[in-house]
Amino acid sequence: MVVVMGADATDQDVAHVVERVEAAGGEAFVSRGVTRTIIGLVGDIDAFRELNLRSLPGVADVHRISVPYKLVSREHHRDRSVVWVGSGPARVAFGPETFTFVAGPCAVESPEQTREAAEMAKAAGARLLRGGAFKPRTSPYAFQGLGLRGLEILAEVGASLDLPVVTEVVDPSDVAMVAEHADMLQIGTRNMQNFGLLQAVGTAGRPVLLKRGMQATVDEWLMAAEYIAQRGCLDVVLCERGIRTFETATRNTLDVSAVPVAQAASHLPVIVDPSHASGRRDLIVPLSRAAIAVGADGIIVDVHPQPEEALCDGPQALVGADLRSLAQAVRQLPPLLGRTLR
Ligand code: PEP
Ligand code: MN
Repeated sequence: MVVVMGADATDQDVAHVVERVEAAGGEAFVSRGVTRTIIGLVGDIDAFRELNLRSLPGVADVHRISVPYKLVSREHHRDRSVVWVGSGPARVAFGPETFTFVAGPCAVESPEQTREAAEMAKAAGARLLRGGAFKPRTSPYAFQGLGLRGLEILAEVGASLDLPVVTEVVDPSDVAMVAEHADMLQIGTRNMQNFGLLQAVGTAGRPVLLKRGMQATVDEWLMAAEYIAQRGCLDVVLCERGIRTFETATRNTLDVSAVPVAQAASHLPVIVDPSHASGRRDLIVPLSRAAIAVGADGIIVDVHPQPEEALCDGPQALVGADLRSLAQAVRQLPPLLGRTLR
């Protein structure tokens, strides 16, 4: 931490800061420039924060040098982590040496639709099945998901095809029930800063897929992951799913640079959701290629047997030739970057 003194700070102001820092068990190194004095602090940052240094006389600014998240940062954990999902031979890894393909319907609508979508996903090479039972819809009049029945359908279809399942949870009081039916819990973009929900999934005993808030900085996203980690769950996979910008050609703007930025700051795996980023079927293959090239640890995409009849996000769901060309990209490109598909 560095304290920057104002141009008119007195020697007494500087001495006062040093005194407070030392009283809190820290060390203070004073460096006097021509117009300004800065004080470098070494010690327990949390203790310094309580000193309210910014409010002391003569202090112009206080800067943190180390990152505010600990458990998820690479400062505290140099090597990139591998997160395992599911159990037995079907279990899947997310990490730096693999490329993990996740696919399935946006929403679980019926047993037949879920099974067909899951079969499409599996045939295309997906190793983890997605499907929403609780849908966080912008409109209260839109399909909200089948709830518990949806969880049961997803779990049943996943088990019959040997695919672990990931599904979203939107309410802290549903976490235990969702954890009972799913191998991985998803936190959606709208809930990235629902701190009570983050804490609840952090104690559920399941790995978590944490989507980036559509208006969140990478630091805020990592702080959200820190909430989950702080509750004892380090099995968190980050997912870049597009952010809000002025551009309207796509539903959101895929922030490709967030992938290497998050991977440099955090040891957690980072995947990309080109479906929710773009909202457009014709962009899923090119954006998936971009995700692979930039070093994403996997992708998650929407598929649907009859997109025109989908109750949620039909325009972005893959089917037919588009899904086949995604399957080809996912088979061919990751090995070029030294990644295996298993
Ligand atoms: C989803 O994956 O079904 C979803 C709603 O995504 P997001 O939270 O990124 O909008
Ligand atoms: Mn969706």
